[in-house]
Amino acid sequence: MPARPKFYLTTPIYYTNGLPHIGHTYTTVVADVIRRYKRMRGYEVAMTTGTDEHGINVERAAKNAGIPESEFVAKMADAWRALWDELGLPADEFIRTTDLRHVRTVQWLFKLCRENGYVYKGHYTGQYCIYDNAFVNDAKPGDNCPDCGRPTETLTEENYFFKLSAFQKPLLDFYKKNPEFIQPETRKNEIVSFVEGGLKDLSITRTTVRWGIPVPGEEPHVFYVWFDALTAYLSAVGGPDYEKRGFWPADLHLVGKDIIRFHSVYWPAFLMAAMLPLPKQVWAHGWFLMDASKMSKSKGNVVLPRPIANMLGMDALRYFLLREVVFGQDGNFSYDALVTRYNSDLANGLGNLASRTAAMIEKNFVGKIPKAGKLQPQDEALACETQAAIGDVLDYFDKMNFTRALESLWVVIAAADKYLTTEKPWSLGDSEADTQRKAAVLATTAELLRIVTVLAYPVLPDTAAKIWTLLGQPGSVSAVELEGLRWGQLASGVSLGKPQTLFPRLEKSEAIERIESMANEELNPTAPPAPAPAVASSTTAGAAAATSLAASEKIGIEDFAKVEMRVGQIKTAERIVGADKLLKLTVDIGTEIRQICAGIAQYYEPDSLIGRKVAVVTNLAPRKLRGVESNGMIIAASVGPEGRPVLAGFPEDVEVGARLK
Ligand SMILES: [Zn+2]
Repeated sequence: MPARPKFYLTTPIYYTNGLPHIGHTYTTVVADVIRRYKRMRGYEVAMTTGTDEHGINVERAAKNAGIPESEFVAKMADAWRALWDELGLPADEFIRTTDLRHVRTVQWLFKLCRENGYVYKGHYTGQYCIYDNAFVNDAKPGDNCPDCGRPTETLTEENYFFKLSAFQKPLLDFYKKNPEFIQPETRKNEIVSFVEGGLKDLSITRTTVRWGIPVPGEEPHVFYVWFDALTAYLSAVGGPDYEKRGFWPADLHLVGKDIIRFHSVYWPAFLMAAMLPLPKQVWAHGWFLMDASKMSKSKGNVVLPRPIANMLGMDALRYFLLREVVFGQDGNFSYDALVTRYNSDLANGLGNLASRTAAMIEKNFVGKIPKAGKLQPQDEALACETQAAIGDVLDYFDKMNFTRALESLWVVIAAADKYLTTEKPWSLGDSEADTQRKAAVLATTAELLRIVTVLAYPVLPDTAAKIWTLLGQPGSVSAVELEGLRWGQLASGVSLGKPQTLFPRLEKSEAIERIESMANEELNPTAPPAPAPAVASSTTAGAAAATSLAASEKIGIEDFAKVEMRVGQIKTAERIVGADKLLKLTVDIGTEIRQICAGIAQYYEPDSLIGRKVAVVTNLAPRKLRGVESNGMIIAASVGPEGRPVLAGFPEDVEVGARLK
C-alpha cells in the first residue's frame, strides 16, 4: 500500500490569559473540519493547537493568583486541553511553549538565523512602566501606561534584533511565486502593500521580561513573543528533527485576521533566514462579533462554547459556525440565530428527513433497506441532482467555502423533502405495483440520505455516525473515501439500526435562557450549577472568595472577608413561569431592595416567605437565571441526598442590613 500523502495544519497557539471562548472555538472547529475532510480524501493528517505561555501578562496573572508561573501555566494548559477534548476537538499535537521540545527548537532556530548573519545585538528604546515592569508598545514620551495610568519613562535596553529589513524583496518574490500563500485575497493585498512600504528590523529578545525562553549564553535575554510563539508550529512536529516526522512544511496555518501579518511576514522571514522550508498557506478568518463589537473578556461579551454544546450538541454549534458566516469574513453571533438554525436546518431539515425515512422503511419493509428496482424519471432526476452535488460539495470544501458546501447539501435535503411530498409513499397500498413503487421511492431517499451523511461528516461527525448506524451501513462513516463516493452504493437488504432522535425541536426562548444561565454559572464559578437553585450551602458561599485557579482546600480570613453577607428581609415572593424550582424575591438589605432568584420553589410557598429575615450574599456579581436577573444570593443549608434547601435564619431578632461576620 503506498504511503498516504501528509497534511499538516495548525490553529494559533492560544495565549493563556483566559479560557477559550467562541472565537478560539471557531478556529479550532474549522481546523477539525478540515482534518476530518482531508482524512476522507486519503491524507495522513496532523493538527496542532496549543498554548502560548510566556511573557509579562502570565507573570502578572500568576502573581495575582499567588502561585509560581509554571504552576499557573500548567493549570491553564490542562484546562484548554481538557476543553478541546470535551468538545470533540482533540489536538494530534498539543504544544505548550514551555515544553522542552519547544525551548530547544526556538534556541536552534535562533542559532541558525544568527549563523546565517540575520541576528545582531542592538538597543531598543521605548516607553516603560516601572510599576508594571513592561514596555508600553507604541507609546510616546509623556504618555501614561494604559494598564495602570502611571506616567511611563523612556528606557533603553539591549536586545537582539532580527534583520527583517533584508527580507522585503525575498518576501515579495515569494508571494508572487506562491499566489495562494495568503488567503483570502483581500488579506494578501494588505500584506503585500505593507511589505512594499518597507520593513523595520525586529527586536526578538528582552532583558526586562523574566518569564521566557532564555537565549543560550546570553542571560538575562529571553525570547520575546513572536520568535517564541510562531516557532511552536515547527516544535510540534519534530523541531530540529522535522524531516523524520515528515509533516513540515505546514500545509495550512489557520489564523484570525488580527495576526495575519506575523504569520505571513515574520514567520516566513525567520524560516528563510534559517534556510528552512516555508509553510504553504496562511488563511485568515474573520471574527464573530457580539452586537457588532469584537468579543473580549474585558468587554464582558464573551460567548462560551460549553453551554451551547450542552444545550444543542456540539454538532449544532459546528454547523452554525460554518454555515452562518462565509469563512474569511466577519459575522454576527447571536443565540437567536443559533437556535433558529438549529430548529430549521437540523431538527426540521436533516433530522426530520432521517427519522421519517427510517420510520417508513421500518413500517413497509420490516426495517430492511429495500432494493430500488424499476425507477421513474423523477427518481432518476433526484439521483442526478445528488450525484452532481457530490462534485460541488467537494469543490467547496477544497476552497474552504464551508458555507456553500453546506448550502449545497441542504438544497439536496430540501429536494428530498419535496420528492417525498410529491410521491407520497405513505398513501400507497399493498399491491405488488404499489410495493415496488414504495421500494423505489424509499431506496432513492435512503441513498440520498447516505450521500448527504457522508458529505456532512466533516462538519457533523456525531450526527453522521448516528445516521450511518441508523441506515445499517457497513463500517464507519469516517472511513468512507470521498474519492469513490457515487450514487448507487447503498447496501440494500441490511437492517436499520435503532431509531433515535437526532435534534429534538426546541422552544427558542427557553433554550436561550438555559444557555445563558449555564454561561453565567461558568463565568461566575461561585454560583451553583445550572439549572440548580440559586441557593447554596454555607461551604459554597465561603468558596466564593477563592478564584478558580488559586482555589485551595482552606482560605484565609482575608478571602472570607471578600464575601459580604447581610441580614435581609423578604418583601415579595413569586413563582417564575417556566422555571419550576425558582422563586423571584425582592429583599430589603438595609441600603436597598434587591431582586434575587432562589431555587426554593419546590419547598417554600411564596406567601410563607414574606417578612422573613434571611442571610444574603450581597456582593455577588449579578447574573441571569432563566432570563430573570438575580442580584445576590440567599443562604440555605442543603439537606439530604436531594439537597433540600433550608433557609438560614436568626432565632433572635436582628436588624435588617446587619453584616454577617
Ligand atoms: Zn503601568
